[in-house]
Amino acid sequence: MFDHESAAGTLRRELRGAVHTPGTAGYDTHRVALNPRLDPRPAVVAEAVTPADVQAAVRVAGRYRLPLAVQATGHGTLVPADGGVLVRTTAMAEVLVNPARRIARVGPGATWADVIAAAAPFGLAPISGSSTSVGVAGFTFGGGVGWLSRRYGFAADNLVRADLVTADGDRVTANAERNPDLFWAIRGGGGNFGIATALEFRLHPVSRVYAGTAYFPLERARQILARFRDWSQNGQPDELAASVVLQASGLAIRGLYAGSAGDAIRALQPLWEVAGPPVENNWRATDYTESGTIGGTAPRQFELFEDLSEALIDRAVDAVAGPEPLANAIEVRSWGGAMARPELDAGPVGHRGVPFSFTVDGPVAASTRFAPYATGGSFLNFNHDPARTHTAYTTSDHGVLRDLKRAWDPDNVLGLTHNIAPSTIPARSAG
Ligand SMILES: Cc1cc2nc3c(=O)[nH]c(=O)nc-3n(C[C@H](O)[C@H](O)[C@H](O)COP(=O)(O)OP(=O)(O)OC[C@H]3O[C@@H](n4cnc5c(N)ncnc54)[C@H](O)[C@@H]3O)c2cc1C
Repeated sequence: MFDHESAAGTLRRELRGAVHTPGTAGYDTHRVALNPRLDPRPAVVAEAVTPADVQAAVRVAGRYRLPLAVQATGHGTLVPADGGVLVRTTAMAEVLVNPARRIARVGPGATWADVIAAAAPFGLAPISGSSTSVGVAGFTFGGGVGWLSRRYGFAADNLVRADLVTADGDRVTANAERNPDLFWAIRGGGGNFGIATALEFRLHPVSRVYAGTAYFPLERARQILARFRDWSQNGQPDELAASVVLQASGLAIRGLYAGSAGDAIRALQPLWEVAGPPVENNWRATDYTESGTIGGTAPRQFELFEDLSEALIDRAVDAVAGPEPLANAIEVRSWGGAMARPELDAGPVGHRGVPFSFTVDGPVAASTRFAPYATGGSFLNFNHDPARTHTAYTTSDHGVLRDLKRAWDPDNVLGLTHNIAPSTIPARSAG
C-alpha cells in the first residue's frame, strides 16, 4: 500500500471531519484553488472540524512524510499541494464577539463576511478588505489591508492572539505574553509558522460609513492623479481609504470614509474639485456591512512607489489607454495613516512608509513598465509570485523570520505557500 493510502486510512480513523481522496465524492470540491491556472492534486483532503482534527492531520502528514498545506477558501493558494495532505478549515467558521472587550474570536475557516455580520449588531467592525469572501487567516497572516487600515492599521496589527498547531503537531498559543516570537512572526509572515485553529482580533466602533465609487472620463486622469498624490500626502484624513482606478473605459475614484457623510464630503472635496462632474456617482451613506460591494482590483501584479511622478502617471495612463494598451485596469492606492505608525512590537509587515501602490490587472509586461519607478518591495497578500516572497519584508525582518522558521518549522513542513525558508545554521569556524 502506498504511503498516501495508509495516510488516508489513518486520517479516516482519527478525524471527525470528512477525508477525501481522488475519486471520492467531495475531492474535487475541496481541492480547488481560486487561481484558474492551478489544478491542485493533493493525495488527501482532510476537512478539519476541530483543532484536534488539524493536529491529527499535521501528525499524519509528518508520520507518512507527505507535504502539508492548509486552505480556508482557496483565494490565496499559490502553490498546489500535489501529492500531499491538504487541510481544509472551511467548516471551522465560528465567530464569537465580546462587545465589552471589542474582541472577536474567530475560527480559521471564517470569512470576513462572517465576522462583519457577527460584529455589526454591536456597532463594531473588523479590519476587512475589498472582498468579504476572503478568509480571515490567510488575509491576516499576509498583513491584511482593508478599508479601515489607515485609521486602525493592518489586520495583522489588530490580531491579539492565535491558537496554532505547529509543524510538529503541538498546540500552542501565540500572543504578547505566550510565545511572543511566534506572535511577531505570524503578524505578516504568512502561513509559514503553524496552522491556526482560532484567531482573536480587535474590533472597532464603526457602523455607518460613507462609501462608493464615482466615475469620470479618462481625459482627466493626469490632473486627478496629481491631485490624489498631493492630497494623500497632505489632507487625506486617516478615516478615509481611497483609490483611483484607471481603465480604458474611464476613471473611478472609490473608497470608504469611517464617519459621517458631511465629514466625508468635506474630506473628498479636493478630489471632486479637480475631477469635474462625474459620469456616475454612487458614494452614499451606508452601513459597514456593505463594504464588500465597493469593489477592488483582483491582485495580479503589484508594485510600491515612493512617489507618483508625472512620468509614472503618464506610463500608467498609457498602459490602459495608449496606442498599445497593456493593462485592463490599474488601481492606484494611497497607504499611510496608522499603517505607517506601527506600535513598537508590530509584526514584520514591511515597507510601511511607502505611500503608493499600483495593483495591475494585465499581463506581466504591464508591471515591468513600472519597475524602473518601483521600490522593488511588495505586500505579501498582493504578491502572486512565490519567487518574490522576500520582497514583502525588510532585509533584517526577513532574516529574523528565517531564524524563527528554523526554530518553529526547521524541516519546512509548511512550505507550500509564500515560503520563508528556514535559515541555515552557520558553519562552525575551524578552531
Ligand atoms: C478578490 C480578492 C480580493 C482581495 N482583497 C484583499 C484586500 O483587500 N486586502 C488584502 O490584504 N488582501 C486581499 N486579498 C488577498 C488575500 O488576503 C489573500 O489571497 C489571502 O491569502 C486569502 O486568504 P484565504 O484564507 O482566503 O485563502 P486560502 O487560499 O484559503 O489560504 C491562502 C494561504 O493562507 C494561509 N492560511 C490559510 N489558512 C490558514 C491557517 N488556518 N493557518 C495558517 N495559515 C493559513 C496559507 O499559507 C494558505 O496557503 C484579496 C484576494 C482576492 C482573491
